Amino acid sequence: MVRKIVLIDPATRQVLAHRGQLDGLRRFRYCPHLGLQALAGASPSREVRIIDERLERFDPASLEADLVGITVRTGLAPRAHELARVFHQRGISVVFGGPYTTLTPDLALADPAVRCVVRGPAVGAWNDLLADIEANRAQRVYEGKAQAGVTISHVAAPTGPYRPSTALVQITQGCNFKCSFCVIPSLYEERFVAPSVEQALAAIASTEARLLAFVDDNLIGNLVFARQLFAGLRGMGKRWFCQATLNVARDPALVALMSEAGCVGVNIGIETINSAIWEQQNKRQNFSCELTAAIQRLHDHGICVSGGFIFGFDQDDVTVFDRSLDFMARSKLDFAACHILTPYPGLPFHEQLKREGRILTDDLSRYSTYEVVFQPLQMSPDQLQEGFNRVVREFYSIRRVCRRFVSAVQPLGLSSAAFSAFGGYVVHSNLNRGLPIHA
Ligand code: SF4
Repeated sequence: MVRKIVLIDPATRQVLAHRGQLDGLRRFRYCPHLGLQALAGASPSREVRIIDERLERFDPASLEADLVGITVRTGLAPRAHELARVFHQRGISVVFGGPYTTLTPDLALADPAVRCVVRGPAVGAWNDLLADIEANRAQRVYEGKAQAGVTISHVAAPTGPYRPSTALVQITQGCNFKCSFCVIPSLYEERFVAPSVEQALAAIASTEARLLAFVDDNLIGNLVFARQLFAGLRGMGKRWFCQATLNVARDPALVALMSEAGCVGVNIGIETINSAIWEQQNKRQNFSCELTAAIQRLHDHGICVSGGFIFGFDQDDVTVFDRSLDFMARSKLDFAACHILTPYPGLPFHEQLKREGRILTDDLSRYSTYEVVFQPLQMSPDQLQEGFNRVVREFYSIRRVCRRFVSAVQPLGLSSAAFSAFGGYVVHSNLNRGLPIHA
């Protein structure tokens, strides 16, 4: 009988090394992994503990569990296998889920410490998996299917020692686009699934949290659904962040509706300022609206903009770093989430680079999106790493953080400008203390 389940979100070795310095702020800023909370919510008759290793110290040699589930991103695979081996030695079954498992199930199962894996959204296969383990007939691979539903962190499962002020919410699953470098289409079998608008609004209304973060990969993946959702959110008194594709800014009425519905920030995958790369990477949705005008339109409605950037595409040379910094300043972007292009094993892009002899390491702990793991075409690996580090340091320099605060007060209001500046200062301070970028 599986009575005690422990679900683990592991941490990188850099975060583990600095964990003591991060604990205080993290307890308020972070919420346990929403996918793990969904699993906890799907295990009502069992005792479930969620461990976020970035925050919580635990000893795998003495932790009590009948079953351990670990969500594994590729860069965390070495740590996940390390933990699995300790549990396996103690006779505890270990199940892997997450992007690493979905992309490379054979790699995960090559470790005898991993009893079975779930590909895709684990909640869709969870009950079958538990029943099979209890009947001692567990399969090696389970295929989790995306299911229409709503997951809200403050409702799905107890948050244990955490005191997050923001509720994480997931309404839709998957993305309607298929950018070449992205793992989301593989994770959800290229599907986009949404519940009814009424179901979504009822679930949101049931949480007392006023601040929400929609973790949907693209909240506007279905524009009809999105418009109805935003119309229903008006008057609920919630303030929220979301992720959306750049075409959100093409429609002024949609942006106005989002603002009236309580949207205070949106994260957009800009990826690069070189439109030839959008074409090559199948990111054509970024052609829908001129970048600076898109950011301006969102600002005009009091919405902060965080831009996702990736460095290291084949068209990138050493000038990309200064050009990107110029763009970030000109467009008055509020946050920049910068990454190094990472060819995850299991993606066609990885196969291509392997054939070209450009993969530099198979050490998966380096597949974090903050380290160079392949040979770039128009610069050296060191130039890519140094240029990337410089962009992050410069964007979060005190000079730029202060400048952004001053220019954000008028369009965004004092509280959003201060929020943006505080977020920038936290990154600046972490970098100055030698903490990892993703701390
Ligand atoms: S739009 Fe975003 S989530 Fe969707 S496939 Fe492209 S990068 Fe991935």
